[in-house]
Amino acid sequence: MITGSPASRLSHAAPDWRAAWRDAVTDPLELLSMVGLPHLAAALPADDAGFAMRVPRGFVARMTHGDARDPLLLQVLPQLAEAEDVPGFSRDAVGDLAARDAQGLLHKYQGRALLIASGSCAVNCRYCFRRHFPYGEEIAAAGAWRQALAHVAADTSIEELILSGGDPLSLATGKLAELTDGLSALPHVRRLRIHTRLPVVLPERIDDAFTQWLEAVPLQKVVVLHANHANEFDGDVDDACRRLRDAGATLLNQSVLLAGVNDDAETLSALSERLFAAGVLPYYLHQLDRVQGAAHFEVDDARALALVQAMRERLPGYLVPRLVREEQGEPSKTPL
Ligand SMILES: *Cc1c(COP(=O)(O)O)cnc(C)c1O
Ligand code: SF4
Repeated sequence: MITGSPASRLSHAAPDWRAAWRDAVTDPLELLSMVGLPHLAAALPADDAGFAMRVPRGFVARMTHGDARDPLLLQVLPQLAEAEDVPGFSRDAVGDLAARDAQGLLHKYQGRALLIASGSCAVNCRYCFRRHFPYGEEIAAAGAWRQALAHVAADTSIEELILSGGDPLSLATGKLAELTDGLSALPHVRRLRIHTRLPVVLPERIDDAFTQWLEAVPLQKVVVLHANHANEFDGDVDDACRRLRDAGATLLNQSVLLAGVNDDAETLSALSERLFAAGVLPYYLHQLDRVQGAAHFEVDDARALALVQAMRERLPGYLVPRLVREEQGEPSKTPL
């Protein structure tokens, strides 16, 4: 699509997002030296507990130089505390290994089916349940989603397909188009939802080819971002959000409540305000999945509830996210 469409307005001369993806920082020592904290090297764990560090350079650039408590740094830097074995924290905290069928399709909630489109992420978040998942790197690429599509085609109760992962935007746009071409032929499917952290951690991903694809998908489109702190936003992220909205997507955000990162009312309120400035509405604030290695991020329920109450007293109602947790076997997220 070169001329005669909305896409012909200013072309977006972005560098290839895959180059930015590959160029991520994977050495904790390099990260510490980039943010002016080389002396913290002595406090690094001896190994990465089976979950490599990975963080795009653009995300590193948003960290505050010299701040060992930087909320972006704490989300990605391996910590000694990850090695602690804390009772109640397990390797499959949300039961997804049991619920997932062979095609990577999770159909736990009425009307919505979730496809694990890819196991890859541009960033490895230390609190993530994914740290223990034996996901293949390219689930959808293996052709498995033809079977997933067949399941969605056969079940007319499914009105919304959710692409999740990993990060579904780790797939090439052409792959995503293959999937949505199949979806668009199903009259009962009305909505496409994409859960992704890429517009925040690697905004280069939202390039012209991507927005042209998204705009052309003949379904209602929802993109659920994942940002945990206002500092994750900069001009490039704002631009990516604007491009997603221009392509017809409704933008929502889910966050995880994380001790030391965003567990105070002022930080959470600033995040909501920053999201709205970028054209994004807060959707969920998740209590942490209790995965082994992430216990040091947990905030107890009483405090979580108090934080959300404090947000309610400061913000318009539409900027207060719903505080939820994921519980195995429940028909929806569980509100606290
Ligand atoms: C979280 C989740 C959804 C989406 O739930 P919403 O409340 O609609 O955001 C759908 N399917 C599965 C398997 C999920 O884990
Ligand atoms: S799935 Fe989301 S939270 Fe988990 S590592 Fe990937 S981007 Fe981070």
